Amino acid sequence: MLSRSKSTLWTVIITWLLALCFAGCSLLAEPPVPTPAPTQESQIEEEPVEAHPTPSDATLEPEGERPAPDRETLYVHFIDVGQGDCILIEAGCFTVLIDGGPRNSGQLVVDYLVKRGIREIDVLIATHPHADHIGGLIAVLESFPVKRIIDAGIPHTTVTFDDYLTLVETQVKAGCRYETPEDQTIELPGAAFLDILGPPGDLGSLNDNSVVCRLVFANTSFLFTGDVQQAAEESLLEREVPLTADVLKVGHHGSRTSTTPPFLDAVSPTYAVIPCGRDNRYGHPHDEVLERLERFGVTVYRNDQHGTIIFTSDGDTLYVQTCTE
Ligand SMILES: [Zn+2]
Repeated sequence: MLSRSKSTLWTVIITWLLALCFAGCSLLAEPPVPTPAPTQESQIEEEPVEAHPTPSDATLEPEGERPAPDRETLYVHFIDVGQGDCILIEAGCFTVLIDGGPRNSGQLVVDYLVKRGIREIDVLIATHPHADHIGGLIAVLESFPVKRIIDAGIPHTTVTFDDYLTLVETQVKAGCRYETPEDQTIELPGAAFLDILGPPGDLGSLNDNSVVCRLVFANTSFLFTGDVQQAAEESLLEREVPLTADVLKVGHHGSRTSTTPPFLDAVSPTYAVIPCGRDNRYGHPHDEVLERLERFGVTVYRNDQHGTIIFTSDGDTLYVQTCTE
């Protein structure tokens, strides 16, 4: 945990205020000051807006060049796709995309990747076949070559899934590796790694068979849980796989059927991200989950309130940017 001097804090705050004047992206819609306010004790600190391009920063056009490889910094973007999941991991030039949100967010996701200078995807993970996770991947698969695809390997009887599968087959014919999850570790630049933690594949519901993975970069870590519910959480606990993480992507959009206290206790996150749409018809996130997170002292970020949420890690400290339209 790092602390900053007062002068550095004032520099950050002044930089933020200046950046807010010129950028279309704000930390939060209101109040117009950095929130949550960093404290001396906080592990999480805001990053100057101009330091890392965000969706509103049109500095990288489609034909633009990718930022220079940076092995010292890891970016994890929780892209605001409304009611759905979409997570982009960037480690140097290595790109991992976990889910793509619903189908009507596909172009938004493609545009986001293009603005980041991304031209191919190293690993694409489709956690499970529900439309709010794979729908947006259709536009992604149509737009970018993908080197490796990992999904739960479980079919679904929807047009969206058929379209997804057709495009996966096209990618495989072009040389892409297709895998169903096995306990495996994907190495990323900068000695970061992504552990695929399952599912075991026999848990009944599509949600519980979501691909779960844990990203580690030096002393910082993230856990991505798809839409797993209690059965999968119990399975992960029984298998005693490593679950601790600084940042938990909350399962199933904050539904009360997920994020059980024993699971939360094992993950022991400092921060949680809830991917959910504004005024969604499911009432996500449910109050019970918000209360559990509060009881465990977890700081919560939500796509419906904070827009796209970007964590930056230097291996020791996590920084966060939020970006509402
Ligand atoms: Zn979902």
